[in-house]
Amino acid sequence: MSKSLGNYMEIITARATDADVRSRSQDGGIVSAAFIYGIENGILDGSIVASAPDKHNPSPVVAITKEDILKARGTKYSISPNVALLKSAVREHGLEKVGFVGTPCQLVALRKAIKYPLGFRHVGDKVGLIIGIFCMENFNYQSMKILIEEYANVSMDDVLKTDIGKGKLWVYKKDGSEPITVPLKETHIFEQKSCHVCTDYTSELADFSTGSVGSPDGWSTVIIRTKRGKEFIDKMIADGKLETQPADLEGKGGIPLLEKLSNGKKEKSLDTIRIREENGLPVPKLL
Ligand code: SF4
Repeated sequence: MSKSLGNYMEIITARATDADVRSRSQDGGIVSAAFIYGIENGILDGSIVASAPDKHNPSPVVAITKEDILKARGTKYSISPNVALLKSAVREHGLEKVGFVGTPCQLVALRKAIKYPLGFRHVGDKVGLIIGIFCMENFNYQSMKILIEEYANVSMDDVLKTDIGKGKLWVYKKDGSEPITVPLKETHIFEQKSCHVCTDYTSELADFSTGSVGSPDGWSTVIIRTKRGKEFIDKMIADGKLETQPADLEGKGGIPLLEKLSNGKKEKSLDTIRIREENGLPVPKLL
């Protein structure tokens, strides 16, 4: 347990061993590798992922093959409403063991749907694995378009992927040239307002959470939180699907940085929540 990172059992640094999975995935390709492993080993029937064909405005799809998962690799510019597809994944696609990936706020919605299944009867118990991603803020499509086209001066059609890290928004082009960066101090005004009352950076309600912060380039930090998450990751490692190294628990760019960012988000958002309460404005209700 860590006040800043929520409940967890273990933190590791990991990456997919399959270079094809890693290419065009974010960082160590953990989410793609986990869903592929789940499908290929009968642990999951399929997973809800954000569709890749239209990265500019992603929407959730049910992925039931390795190819489906690979098509959805990498970052998306805006949030994909993955919770909205859960009922359909179970009732229309007939999945009995669903993999789910989402942002911290989506996992609050998912855990609420599982715990209080109003309108979700017989759905929550079909969720077989919950992966959370680190999320500091999010931009809607129009905002991201302005940042990429006007601030980074890159056409949306030329973008390979985007990333946020080291105080900058990184825009990678399909031509392989050096990424263009936009300082985060210029992106703040484009953030979704709901993100300013969000206190969870590391997806504290996941089976395991993952993101780049705290690990070297090309690797991902994995926070293992539940027994189910630990069994899943341990099997992947034992079967050679993930390579690992001990998490950097003391270095400047390691877990202390993750804790610092997480604490900073909590403190800032709690301040905003307090101010909203004082002014009689609505505030989020967590579990
Ligand atoms: Fe959701 Fe919070 Fe991320 Fe905003 S910062 S997208 S509210 S998890």
